Amino acid sequence: MANIIYDNETTFDALKDKTIAIMGYGSQGHAHARNLHESGLNVVVGLRKSSSSWAKAENDGLKVMTVAEAAKAADVIMVLLPDENQASVYYSEIAPNLEAGNALAFAHGFNIHYSQIVPPKDVDVFMAAPKGPGHIVRRTYTEGIGVPALIAVYQDATGNARDIALSYVKGIGATRAGVYETTFREETETDLFGEQVDLCGGISSLIKTAFEVLVEAGYQPEMAYFETCHEVKLIVDLIYEGGLERMWHSVSNTAEYGGMTVGPRVINEESREAMYEALERIQNGEFAKEFVLEGMVNHPVLKAMERQEKEHQLEVVGKQIRANIPWLNKKIDDD
Ligand code: NAD
Ligand code: MG
Repeated sequence: MANIIYDNETTFDALKDKTIAIMGYGSQGHAHARNLHESGLNVVVGLRKSSSSWAKAENDGLKVMTVAEAAKAADVIMVLLPDENQASVYYSEIAPNLEAGNALAFAHGFNIHYSQIVPPKDVDVFMAAPKGPGHIVRRTYTEGIGVPALIAVYQDATGNARDIALSYVKGIGATRAGVYETTFREETETDLFGEQVDLCGGISSLIKTAFEVLVEAGYQPEMAYFETCHEVKLIVDLIYEGGLERMWHSVSNTAEYGGMTVGPRVINEESREAMYEALERIQNGEFAKEFVLEGMVNHPVLKAMERQEKEHQLEVVGKQIRANIPWLNKKIDDD
């Protein structure tokens, strides 16, 4: 089992005389900046002059400057910009202001692992990656708890990189929930694999294909939507709370028998092979290259796929159904 680090095993010593620059004030940025600030650490926020977040961060009691100014002022620089913008901002505004002995930090390993950012040898490079969206990182902190996080050290120029990473995750509240150690490679590859074959890609394809089969077979799209999409949440909640065991226990014997016998025929050896192929393309850098090139030409494929997805009958029917379920329309907490 992995070693889990908790709050009482960590201190703020490695960060207490340092200035931390949080680059970006989006989902993760606002949560890291506010939590670290309220933990008593020295925080500045780096943004574009034109950013609408500038006033927001100031209203939250934080000191805001341009990315270049913040990089210059800071000892520890946490890059919480969108992954696809990080390399260009790094080379134009951060790298020229990096000093030997500074630390460069990330919440996801993509840019370092795939060499989109190649930091100088004389700085520390670490990861502090909460396993949850920014607004939960923020909300749980204010409730006196936190979300679990991963840390990793890619480059340890000062000999203190791990201690700095631990003080950092303490400051965002993650040590209250438990911190796990990983590597940039492991975090990046498993994160991409999970989102491609299981979480985002796998589930959406499973839902769409099952929906299409029922509709093509002549069933009402509304029935198909409820059976193949709406109820996914109820099942996933049971798995999240108590594992597969709780889910199998809660459904009927008919569902349990049918699910256990038919599931492996649907997600079968061919699917397993497709998963291995996806993993190989992640490990050998092909997926990263494809995605980076796609970004360089302003995401034409992504935008086309988004358009097509929006027009899918599942989405059209689902939108109508959800509009008629009052509590589904309330705004998602996005503090
Ligand atoms: P986001 O899109 O919510 O926020 C990005 C911020 O960067 C915004 O404030 C935006 O204004 C700013 N920004 C964009 N371009 C900029 C530029 N050129 N100069 C200055 N500022 C600029 O991003 P996010 O979801 O918080 O992701 C940040 C990092 O955290 C990524 O590495 C991501 O992989 C990682 N991460 C995100 C989550 C999550 O739940 N969102 C979870 C774990 C890790
Ligand atoms: Mg992820």
